Amino acid sequence: MVKRQRLINTFIELIKINSPSFREREISEFIAQQLKSCSFDVLLQDYGQSLNIIARKEGVDKGAPTLILNAHMDTVEDTEKIEFAISDGRIRSIGPTVLGSDDKSGIAQIIEALRVIQETGAAHGTIEVVLTSAEEKGLVGVKNLDFSLLQGRHALVLDSSGPVGNLIVGAPTHITYTMTVTGKAAHAGIEPERGINSIRVASEIVTNIADGRIDDSTTANIGIISGGSATNIVPPKTTLKGEVRSHNSEKLRILKGEIFNQAELIAKKYSALLNIQENIEYESFSIKEGDSFLGLICEAYRNCGITPQLCITGGGSDANIFNKRGIKAINLSNGMQAVHSSEEFILIEDLLRGTEIVIAAIKKMPGAVL
Ligand SMILES: [Zn+2]
Repeated sequence: MVKRQRLINTFIELIKINSPSFREREISEFIAQQLKSCSFDVLLQDYGQSLNIIARKEGVDKGAPTLILNAHMDTVEDTEKIEFAISDGRIRSIGPTVLGSDDKSGIAQIIEALRVIQETGAAHGTIEVVLTSAEEKGLVGVKNLDFSLLQGRHALVLDSSGPVGNLIVGAPTHITYTMTVTGKAAHAGIEPERGINSIRVASEIVTNIADGRIDDSTTANIGIISGGSATNIVPPKTTLKGEVRSHNSEKLRILKGEIFNQAELIAKKYSALLNIQENIEYESFSIKEGDSFLGLICEAYRNCGITPQLCITGGGSDANIFNKRGIKAINLSNGMQAVHSSEEFILIEDLLRGTEIVIAAIKKMPGAVL
């Protein structure tokens, strides 16, 4: 059913098109053509910074629930200089850049699945394809997606690395923050006692707040520190950028409170000012065992001879925003591996199996009650 060489060719064509975040125009036009050839109505939703693809094919079976298929078009970095090889049953990067299987393998799997559905004339419900942009820059595309154009309430997101078989059914809330410590500048040699060293205050904050893995569902990290301008100036301003994540909103609230309070106390001790800005990047979701959509997708896996493994992740994806917007979304591991590195690869067998799961899921929708 799945045409192996055609699938590989589609994937290769996709990775040859450079599409770093916010520069998805060329790849979106290529994909739009592919979707149109599968009888989809295709809309390019321009939101100023970039664009999303929203495509729809009406179902043969009008009563079936609509299924949304999602992946993102951007790669984490520029792949202008991409070099790749196909050997030992895998497609891998052999140059300095990522391969871009994150997330072009997902796009190739969706396109091949749609071709197979069309060629075999299989019964299907309405299918909506949503391909986003700038996912790697903080889910920008999906946050700007025009949800009023979607009728589906169930989505498969093909954007998780690892072997085919893993289903991501939970992801954390992610909050980032910027702390600005304002001390006082002074000549470091002539009158240092007049200054308040913001770097030292910030350092004490960094070493005293909770960090790393807090518990099995909660993490914290300071990722950026910057401040100071010369060795002979007591530095007046230092900025810390950090984040906290948790699957549990109460734990997250407590952890965040502790970190911010601790920082306030330390700043106060040195008579420094502290300003904290926080931003919710995305909110958590959790799909419970026993959910009817999850059950149906697990059955699709078993139909393909693959045992589904339910997992939670510490990272975010378009699935967080879909779930927040009332669309039940499960993020599937589609086979891509060592993503965000020049070692990135995908096994051809996984490229195929990921496609088969999408086909099986589409075929499950007619007759489904969700
Ligand atoms: Zn991705």
